[in-house]
Amino acid sequence: SPTSGTKRKERDYDHDGGCEETSIHVVVRCRGRNDREVRENSGVVLSTTGVKGKSIELSMGPSALSNKTYNFDKVFSPAADQSIVYDEVVAPILEEMLAGYNCTIFAYGQTGTGKTYTMSGDMSDNLGLLSDSAGIIPRVLHHLFNKLEGDAAESSVKCSFIELYNEELRDLLSLDDNAKLKMFEDGSRKGHSATVVQGMEESHIKNAIEGIKLLQDGSHKRQVAATKCNDLSSRSHTVFTVTVYVKRTTEGGEDFVSAGKLNLVDLAGSENIQRSGAENKRAAEAGLINKSLLTLGRVINALVDKSSHIPYRESKLTRLLQDSLGGRTKTCIIATVSPAKSNLEETISTLDYAFRAKNIRNKPQVNQM
Ligand code: ADP
Repeated sequence: SPTSGTKRKERDYDHDGGCEETSIHVVVRCRGRNDREVRENSGVVLSTTGVKGKSIELSMGPSALSNKTYNFDKVFSPAADQSIVYDEVVAPILEEMLAGYNCTIFAYGQTGTGKTYTMSGDMSDNLGLLSDSAGIIPRVLHHLFNKLEGDAAESSVKCSFIELYNEELRDLLSLDDNAKLKMFEDGSRKGHSATVVQGMEESHIKNAIEGIKLLQDGSHKRQVAATKCNDLSSRSHTVFTVTVYVKRTTEGGEDFVSAGKLNLVDLAGSENIQRSGAENKRAAEAGLINKSLLTLGRVINALVDKSSHIPYRESKLTRLLQDSLGGRTKTCIIATVSPAKSNLEETISTLDYAFRAKNIRNKPQVNQM
């Protein structure tokens, strides 16, 4: 039965007691030109309507006839700050998580377009106050603990933080720098199997500051490794997961069960999968390009085409996040782009990718408690 703080959303259920399909939410965030783009006098090729609208227009040539317009669930202009993005996109997802859903937010885009700024942003802690540049993760932690206040004895929050590079999983919360994590399938869950990461640190946090400290330490660890291996930060994926557990009273006493989960995924730079088709697949097999990112694209295509085989098992990222793609999770993709002409090709490829992902339909389902 639903426990305190968790309520079922009737509108998500059809008459058979099953759940309704919903499309993946896809939003775009465009940053301003950076110093280099200004210095190089690279023109602006993107236009949006207001701070937040729904469409984005790309100018692809000298004539307006060659302009291309895309529509998304939301499009944020460079004037949209961290708090607008949070309020418009993430705050509703946090509510869904507290209502018992598993949710995932992906940041997808070319390196340097603001994935990490959007997901983590400024992680500094000013006496417990959020910085204006704080990204989604610090804001989620603050918002979550504000919501749970007064309910502390009834709930418990845990975080994990992992990195995936070259098909190897590393625990960013582990004290052992070289600890490699292994994945296996847990078939014991009713109706579907879930991928479990063995030995992953799940740290209990009592407040937002403790969670932000984990994010800072894990990010620092990633940074240290990135200076030794210069393409790590653009080629690796990170997943920061927040899980809320609620107290359940059973005949045997009390225990805590997972009520809702939020995966915050900062993907590798999309330029890592620039090339297409078979050539891409061979390059991935040779370890030359990002296998997980490539497979993510193939999973999206297979889902959109309603293919009978979805290649989830071909990469660690898609195994880990299988449920977020065509599964029971509520999923949102934030595509980040540069406005500069010099990045036009990558911007088109990001927008095409994101636009295609809009057709994926998930069947979100609340966790059984
Ligand atoms: P990515 O993670 O996609 O490689 P970053 O998040 O590291 O890109 O962003 C690259 C740089 O641009 C950083 O210095 C970041 O602070 C800045 N930046 C990105 N997006 C924005 C934005 N919307 N507003 C202000 N600065 C931004």
